[in-house]
Amino acid sequence: MRLILVSNRLPVNVKESQGSVEIHPSVGGLVTGISAYLDTVKDSLEYIWVGWPGKELSENALNIVKKEAFQKYNAYPVQIPESLNESFYAGFCNKTIWPLFHYFPSYANYDPGFWDSYEEVNQIFLETLEEIIQEGDMVWIHDYHLLLLPSLLRAKYPKLEIGFFLHIPFPTYEIFRLMPGMWRKKLLTGLLGSDLIGFHTHDYTQYYLHCILRILGLENNFGEIIYDNRLVKVDTFPMGINYDKFAKIAATDQSTAIIEDTKKAFIGSKFILSVDRLDYSKGVYARLEAFERFLDKFPKWRNQANLLLVVVPSREQVEQYQEMKKAIDEIVGRINGKFATLDWTPIHYQYRMLSLEELVPLYRMSDAILVTPYRDGMNLVAKEFIASKIDKKGVLILSEMAGASKELGEAIIVNPNNVEEMADAIHEALGMNEAEQIQRNSTMQLRTKRYDVVRWASDFLKTLDLRKSYQDKLSSRFIDKELKKEIYRKFSVGEKKLIFLDYDGTLVPFQKKPELAIPSEELKTLLRRLVEIKNAEIIIISGRDKDTLLDWMQGLDVSIVAEHGAWIRERGKEWRLFKQAPNDWKPRIQPILEQNVDRLPGSFIEEKNFSLVFHYRNADLELAEVRVKELTDDLVHYTANMDVTVLQGNKVIEIKNTGISKGYAGLDLVNYYNPDNILSIGDDWTDESLFAALPEHAVTIKVGIGPSNAKYNVKDYEEVREFLRGLALS
Ligand code: UDP
Repeated sequence: MRLILVSNRLPVNVKESQGSVEIHPSVGGLVTGISAYLDTVKDSLEYIWVGWPGKELSENALNIVKKEAFQKYNAYPVQIPESLNESFYAGFCNKTIWPLFHYFPSYANYDPGFWDSYEEVNQIFLETLEEIIQEGDMVWIHDYHLLLLPSLLRAKYPKLEIGFFLHIPFPTYEIFRLMPGMWRKKLLTGLLGSDLIGFHTHDYTQYYLHCILRILGLENNFGEIIYDNRLVKVDTFPMGINYDKFAKIAATDQSTAIIEDTKKAFIGSKFILSVDRLDYSKGVYARLEAFERFLDKFPKWRNQANLLLVVVPSREQVEQYQEMKKAIDEIVGRINGKFATLDWTPIHYQYRMLSLEELVPLYRMSDAILVTPYRDGMNLVAKEFIASKIDKKGVLILSEMAGASKELGEAIIVNPNNVEEMADAIHEALGMNEAEQIQRNSTMQLRTKRYDVVRWASDFLKTLDLRKSYQDKLSSRFIDKELKKEIYRKFSVGEKKLIFLDYDGTLVPFQKKPELAIPSEELKTLLRRLVEIKNAEIIIISGRDKDTLLDWMQGLDVSIVAEHGAWIRERGKEWRLFKQAPNDWKPRIQPILEQNVDRLPGSFIEEKNFSLVFHYRNADLELAEVRVKELTDDLVHYTANMDVTVLQGNKVIEIKNTGISKGYAGLDLVNYYNPDNILSIGDDWTDESLFAALPEHAVTIKVGIGPSNAKYNVKDYEEVREFLRGLALS
């Protein structure tokens, strides 16, 4: 098996001058992290990294890089034209998705040109992947630049193993819905091409599932979604760091020397660290205000407390970043101007990217670190600080809005909008006794070390592999050409054949209102053909009421079972009641349902002879989810001593007499006709009792995917019709 890692940025840089091409590895958070995992599996797992090499290459250079980067670095470049990349990367990625997903909706720019580029670049990634994908590959796609890619790939490779991980937050529905029109649907369904979708925190996972429910109307069962006849799993995998690497760098003589040198110049001082990329989501400005407030409020720390402020240049072409840089420069100048003395400058500001060899000693020597983003998918700096604390001393001040706060609860947790609270937190951190610092850090170190980046990646990929085997097992039950032929052959002989066909969802698609599912001429022709099959009885077996079914089947020589088996009408005969069942429970249940109709706009009640049905297909699905749970709960309790069953179906709850089911009625007909061959096709829970009741030799088919008593599956009602047309002809 090969692992294909796909991310926007390739872990190599390419330099091209006068026909010669130089390729150098490049570092970055994701690469550093995943490399640690790849090191542990390199003997057993072949891998290729696919992404943009940092610039548009000439034709010649591209061909060289395709070969050389592949051989030397397992890297394969994606060629994105410069002009397109501008509106893709600086545009849709960083001016639309990034601000919106980080809860800065007022910064989001919904330029349709950006969107077009986003779609185009995702398509280019697909085309590049097509050059290298082989059967049996496992593809792991990373981050917000490639939200459409899983579905594009799925359309080309129905059986490919595809995983996706989002490294930034996924926002709540109220924020996500700000994404205009079709874009939001495409972004959500784009991800559904995956077998496994991972997020950093439980909240992000839930927000995504929420959006799937509210925008696409797709329900989930413990994070499992049925989409396009596949099962997609959505789950939480908090990303870790390469813990040992940080602990090792922290312990080097070089780190010790840097720390000793620095401390010599600041005898008796305290150090508070702040390290971020230049980004409005990081909350640097408010953090500086908090530091100012701290110096105002606790003057005893003046001349002692030093803020080491590192800001890494980032996205400098985006307007908000330029403004932010200016604002940071100004406030640093103002605070230093306000408090500095001859021998003390409160803020030591560096605007550059530090190497790990420079950064880790800062982590190790700092008495406290301020990690106070407004919103951050995970935040690795917080974890790296903990890993670098080889003496376990120092205090992490962490924003509750960072994904990392879910794992690092022993930190001083602050709200990044609360300047006063952050100022107090700095005071508390600098005054915290060593024993407590050691205790807190020990716990956080254990957790960070145990769930490190290797564990994160292997957990994700193992889960992906399991999902795929499960998916394969389910899809092996889908009826293919060979199986079809075998079934047709079986049905071409026999003295008596019974064909049970459910109606809604099996012969016709679901409609907004139940009465709209009238059979078309095409369907009627099909049924007429089936009736002509020698020795066959066609039985329409449905939950619908008997009058509607009789009306719809007028002129067709079929038998009908109505109301889930309460009524039977054999071909050419009159209706007979299959089982006399009391209806005295209805007046007691009806008011409960009515009360819920009032509480759930769009829902309604349907009364059948032996059942009551609560329909909620047209209701707000999120509210329905809550109401339906409450209602089911109420009904189950309330009916405990009644001879009725509460069943939850496809956007309906049905309360019906126990002892009436398609299974009982179907079996009655089987005993009556004593057939050699039986075929039964249905799509939901009401059909399951029939599948289970029929003799072993029956061919049972479920429409759609999911757990079932049926032996086989077909995708949808159209496939059912195609299958039946073939049966009639054979
Ligand atoms: N980093 C670095 N040099 C610096 C500042 C930061 O190498 O001068 C690294 C840091 O070690 C961390 C990453 O940049 O791994 C920042 O990751 P984080 O998740 O904290 O934030 P992001 O920038 O991904 O939003």
